[in-house]
Amino acid sequence: MPVKGLGDYDDSNVFARILRGEIPCKKAYEDAFALAFHDIAPQAPVHVLVIPKGKYVSIADFTAKAADAEIAGFFRAVGTVARQLELEAPGYRILANMGEHSGQEVPHFHVHIFGGRPLGRMLA
Ligand code: AMP
Repeated sequence: MPVKGLGDYDDSNVFARILRGEIPCKKAYEDAFALAFHDIAPQAPVHVLVIPKGKYVSIADFTAKAADAEIAGFFRAVGTVARQLELEAPGYRILANMGEHSGQEVPHFHVHIFGGRPLGRMLA
């Protein structure tokens, strides 16, 4: 079910539970600002999610409320993860869903990193 991407943060969402260590993930990277792990239902040979450590519902919430250091640290982590996954030379795509029209399902801001094959043009 798509979520709104706005409003109060729901502490019971699946990524909040992963951050608390209540459910496992296949970790790809972690630092003070971000956790990256492999998507449970990959849509490309490489499909990794990068999430901020703070409680933000969506990109809209994150960019409105997060401190500059959190925003810088998070997006630097996205680049670091892609580099560590050796996606820079062949290339990759990042994507963030926000709200109902995007089909966002998990109400904790996350960036998808897709790679490992040619990805086609933009929206399918
Ligand atoms: P979105 O539609 O942008 O909210 O994407 C949510 C993503 O989270 C989907 O690609 C799901 O496959 C993925 N996902 C849901 N639960 C888990 C989980 N426990 N571990 C890893 N990925 C998950």
